Amino acid sequence: MILPDYVKYCLQELESAGYPAYAVGGCVRDSLLGNTPHDFDLCTGAKPHEICSVFSHLPLVKNGEKHGTIGVVIDHHLVEITTFRTEGGYQDNRHPDWVNFVSSLDEDLARRDFTVNAMAYSPKEGYIDPFGGREDLENRILRAVGDPGERFTEDSLRILRGVRFAVRFHLTPEENTKDALFRLAPLMDNLARERVFAELCKLLTYVNAQDLLTYAPVITQVIPELAPSVGFRQNSPHHLYDVYTHTAQVTSAMPPEPTLRWAALLHDVAKPQCYTEDENGRGHFKGHAPAGAELADKILQRLKAPNALRERVVFLIGQHMTPFTPDKKVLRRRLGKWGQEATRQLLTLQRADFCSKGTGTAQEERVFADVEACLAEVLEEGSCFTVKDLAVGGNDLLALGMTGKQIGETLETLLAKVQNEELPNEKEALLSAVKER
Ligand code: ATP
Ligand code: MG
Repeated sequence: MILPDYVKYCLQELESAGYPAYAVGGCVRDSLLGNTPHDFDLCTGAKPHEICSVFSHLPLVKNGEKHGTIGVVIDHHLVEITTFRTEGGYQDNRHPDWVNFVSSLDEDLARRDFTVNAMAYSPKEGYIDPFGGREDLENRILRAVGDPGERFTEDSLRILRGVRFAVRFHLTPEENTKDALFRLAPLMDNLARERVFAELCKLLTYVNAQDLLTYAPVITQVIPELAPSVGFRQNSPHHLYDVYTHTAQVTSAMPPEPTLRWAALLHDVAKPQCYTEDENGRGHFKGHAPAGAELADKILQRLKAPNALRERVVFLIGQHMTPFTPDKKVLRRRLGKWGQEATRQLLTLQRADFCSKGTGTAQEERVFADVEACLAEVLEEGSCFTVKDLAVGGNDLLALGMTGKQIGETLETLLAKVQNEELPNEKEALLSAVKER
């Protein structure tokens, strides 16, 4: 395993002070997979105060000290060093009631969730792998350390973590682990909502459509509002797939970024409740966009999602049926109202939505490329999107003897005319139009 110099230095310092020390967890797994670890966690026999004295010459982060973790800032990196520990209790299958510092690495590895996460490495001793994580990684197997049922009962977040690792590293859950993943999913109802949300955000960025189908029982356990979508037939010439399969496809077609993926995951969540059938047996989903926005708002509030993400997702779902056309006037108005980022995100969602219906033609799809080209042109022109971009301001109108309310209304009227290309965005032209009125 290749360790950066600053990590080697930390290990050496601990060892020369007489404490065993190892790189552990995700970084060992990632480097065995041939990936560069995004950070290096170390574990050691030194107690927290002993870690502090070994690294007293470096800046330290001590807010995890109670749980045994000291952060050492070295070469602009934060290395988290944790005392060997076990944990237990978990009366609420949420957090351990106690952590206990122990002297052996093996005990520390045994408290970890999956075999692929329960390996350690030191330059002196090589890989320490008491649970066969290396072999499981080679065979692409997800296996709980110890009894899966017990481990998921201790901390049911491990169920979502397991799905995340399976999806991210293309691991197949071993039989007992898989059985416990699905059987014990209801235990996740007891988890702190923000832990679930954080874990779902990570999971969503890794999933493809098949993953969302495979793990639907786990997903619908934490987002029960999605359950009615599973297998919900649309009976529409516009839709080849049931609502959940379509949702899974749209989600995986989105760039791997939480806001967009949440919007995709929930964009049709209200379809089942909005379903009606006409006399020909054809399905309709009138009003599912605003109803979906409302439901998504409730879901994301319950999961304690940050306001900015929730509000954007609600906007995107609420507008996902508002069609785009390559029309500069309309695009200018929307850019002014929604801003560039939200407008682009909406276009991305609509494109993924369209491409996942299974019935669209290439010619219909062309409209998205046309809209994007038109959007690029409008932005290039640096046109006028809000009243702030107008060549006249409130002061100019004040000088003409206008008052507060009148000024606001006049600016809005001028903006609409400029966006509609009825007036150029030039001071003189705008002022003379005002005087004429
Ligand atoms: P990532 O690349 O996502 O950071 P990671 O494996 O480093 O992956 P972390 O959440 O950073 O995951 O946790 C570090 C290590 O701590 C894990 O590899 C695992 O050994 C252990 N761990 C973390 N959370 C749990 C948990 N809930 N139960 C048991 N072990 C855990
Ligand atoms: Mg990590």
